[in-house]
Amino acid sequence: MFSIAVLPGDGIGPEVTAPCLAVLQAVGDRFGHRFDFAFAPIGGQAIDEAGCPLPPETLSLCRNADAVLLGALGGPKWEILPAPRRPEAGLLALRQELGLYANLRPAVLYLCLREASPLKDSVTGGAFDMLIVRELTGGLYYGPRGCAGGRAYDTMVYTEREIERIGRRAFALARRRRHKVTSVDKANVLDTSRLWRSVMHRLRDEHPDVGYGDMLVDNAAMQLVRRPADFDVVVTENMFGDILSDLAGMLTGSIGLLPSASLGDGAVAVYEPVHGSAPDIAGQGIANPTAAVLSAAMMLRHSFGLADEAAAVEDAVMAVLAGRKKTADLAVPGDEIVGTSEMGRLIARAIAS
Ligand code: NAD
Repeated sequence: MFSIAVLPGDGIGPEVTAPCLAVLQAVGDRFGHRFDFAFAPIGGQAIDEAGCPLPPETLSLCRNADAVLLGALGGPKWEILPAPRRPEAGLLALRQELGLYANLRPAVLYLCLREASPLKDSVTGGAFDMLIVRELTGGLYYGPRGCAGGRAYDTMVYTEREIERIGRRAFALARRRRHKVTSVDKANVLDTSRLWRSVMHRLRDEHPDVGYGDMLVDNAAMQLVRRPADFDVVVTENMFGDILSDLAGMLTGSIGLLPSASLGDGAVAVYEPVHGSAPDIAGQGIANPTAAVLSAAMMLRHSFGLADEAAAVEDAVMAVLAGRKKTADLAVPGDEIVGTSEMGRLIARAIAS
């Protein structure tokens, strides 16, 4: 039995989380596993119900679960609140409390979705498969900051230990893929990047079986668009990873396709779609649940060691998309447009068969 803390969150969060549960149920039925779901509020819902974005009961449920499945959080209703009390603060606190320093964001262009990519086939080669490994609990987002007297500052701080643990994770992941790591930094300008590079070079020397290259972040932005199929594992610091993973993600066709896993050295990890709460389409039943469902597949693989089950979910998603049944964000002329729940039902049915 695997216990999963489910935090549906706000906006389309609950809409895309529900199909995940149906999909996990189908996996359980086919492979003989039991998944136990326990629900808790986070973000705006938690502010409304409990007065803070990460209530202690939610954190404790997450700590005691085998894994956490999160929908999305935030929305216009809570934008007037000061930053530390806004929904997003709940997510930052959850990552920090659970020590989730490694954010894995696969960006895969599937052959059956090549028409959805904004890039030409001649650029993508029709398909690509990269994994962005973003450092998640250091850098500018967590360094000292302030704003007073017409002056504001944010500070980027990294320690060797923080760089080494994300680097080791990237090399280990590359060994399970195409054995290639690209480390992205700004070592021509930033001291943190020079430290980053020296640690990465030490790790490169320890992993002679893995191909390695450094790339400056501005060049990386260009090369990701110019030759995405050349990348395997891309490892980078927090803010560079935030920006580059959205860029790489959009090359796959829709943000509604992109899953993520946030891992630490502890037992519990958080799985969530890359997208936000999409207030513009919330409540309409049209959101693409694929990113959330593929996040659940990452949970099966990384937290539960169920590689065959994860592959069954991924294959089912591809089978439905290849059958040209798609949500509105992905559909091109000739496709049948389906809603969020129907997409979930189709994926669950494909797993069962
Ligand atoms: P967003 O990702 O919510 O939406 C961007 C665009 O993508 C919108 O047009 C939306 O309709 C579309 N979109 C997103 N997910 C989709 C899906 N599954 N299917 C179809 N279309 C989809 O980003 P935003 O509009 O900048 O932010 C909205 C709110 O979400 C904000 O409050 C923001 O802070 C929050 N946010 C939360 C997270 C998170 O929970 N991890 C991440 C990013 C943004």
